[in-house]
Amino acid sequence: MSVQCGVCVIGGGPAGLAAAIAAEKEGAKVVLIEREARLGGILKQCVHDGFGLVRFGEKLAGPEYAERYLDLLKKTTVHVMLHTFVDNIRPHAMGWHLTVVTSEGMRHIIASAIVLATGCRERTARQVAIHGTRPAGLITAGAAQYYTNILGQLPGRRCVILGSGDIGLIMARRLTLEGAQVLGVYEAKPVPSGLPRNIAQCLNDFGIPLHLSKTVTQVFGSERLEAVEIAEVGSNMQPVNSVRERVACDALILSVGLIPENELAETLGVELHPVTKGPLCDQNGMTNVPGVFSCGNAAHVNDLVDYVSESGESAGRAAARYAAKERAYLDIVPDSSFLYAFPQRVDVTELGEKTVLFFRSRDECDRTRVIVKQNGRELFKKTYRKLRPPEMERVAVPITAVGPVTLEMEVLS
Ligand SMILES: Cc1cc2nc3c(=O)[nH]c(=O)nc-3n(C[C@H](O)[C@H](O)[C@H](O)COP(=O)(O)OP(=O)(O)OC[C@H]3O[C@@H](n4cnc5c(N)ncnc54)[C@H](O)[C@@H]3O)c2cc1C
Repeated sequence: MSVQCGVCVIGGGPAGLAAAIAAEKEGAKVVLIEREARLGGILKQCVHDGFGLVRFGEKLAGPEYAERYLDLLKKTTVHVMLHTFVDNIRPHAMGWHLTVVTSEGMRHIIASAIVLATGCRERTARQVAIHGTRPAGLITAGAAQYYTNILGQLPGRRCVILGSGDIGLIMARRLTLEGAQVLGVYEAKPVPSGLPRNIAQCLNDFGIPLHLSKTVTQVFGSERLEAVEIAEVGSNMQPVNSVRERVACDALILSVGLIPENELAETLGVELHPVTKGPLCDQNGMTNVPGVFSCGNAAHVNDLVDYVSESGESAGRAAARYAAKERAYLDIVPDSSFLYAFPQRVDVTELGEKTVLFFRSRDECDRTRVIVKQNGRELFKKTYRKLRPPEMERVAVPITAVGPVTLEMEVLS
């Protein structure tokens, strides 16, 4: 059995929901595919508030934010396929042929354009160098969030958190509220990775210590985690052998980074950016493969869900309008003070009045001027009081069709 559509959106998180709604509004017949039993993506398990300030001017919990889009989705005719996993995509005369696995067996979808809204996954214990066995109690922050908020089960009673990413900070507070003891958050770098507001509200307000330049080097325990070894980290980012301590605990919670989920993209020949690990995209999320779009955390890890929805909308709209045509691109070139800029290129045949660019600084810097230039002409200039890599900045710039676009940074103090 096969279904035909204009746009097939893969992933039913906030990016995919926004993409599907926008694509239908633009006139496309849309299929939305989600491998889980419910739409909403990661938001389903994020029960804390702070979502939606930019979009709705309100502080919503994750499920409340998702509900706003689910209400909009109910008013559309988008064909939603739950419990459906995209197994394979290959080119087809009409665009793309997707083979999907559903609870009723294999199905086929023919789509003119595809939107990849597959989100990101967490770095696991296998991706960080920790000696020892892998007993129960070693868990990523997202899995700990799922256990606590969805299953109603505590992953441990005496917890150590490795990494100061936002999910780990949020889980430090959540686990404390649920009665667990959080012994400390250990961060190998000399500065925290999470947002300052999360350090203040999730650690300081609960008296949870943050240990910078420290990491976990070994775990102990066979069936269940019994202790971890903590070592100081030198300026070369290597553990210092002489300074080690053993901390008794029954859970080690890893908050050591997110990686955009792009296995499907790679099978399609989509080129990935070495820093973002997401596809190289234009301003509408179109990748180097015509007709394949990417948005949300699959494109690059966003710090605000509001921007995830914004990118979903623009990818959905562009996918609905997609037609094979001659395109011309301008590169967006950030100087080396930037960690990255997104998108990496602009399709000049699709230029609006302003083009939205996102960037992160490579290092933490105080008063800094950011200048966006095209052909040497200043398009945008702003002085930021502080720039920090965990905080993504958004600017809207009147890019025109002529000449390369550069991003420059001048540290003022
Ligand atoms: C564990 C975790 C916790 C987070 N907590 C917070 C937080 O507290 N606050 C915050 O602001 N941000 C948080 N984030 C960031 C959050 O991911 C984004 O704000 C937002 O949810 C990203 O939306 P998305 O639609 O891009 O991805 P997601 O919300 O991850 O949605 C992607 C969806 O795609 C589906 N999918 C993936 N591959 C396939 C496939 N092959 N076939 C079918 N379906 C597929 C997944 O099942 C999922 O539902 C968290 C991220 C993670 C990973």
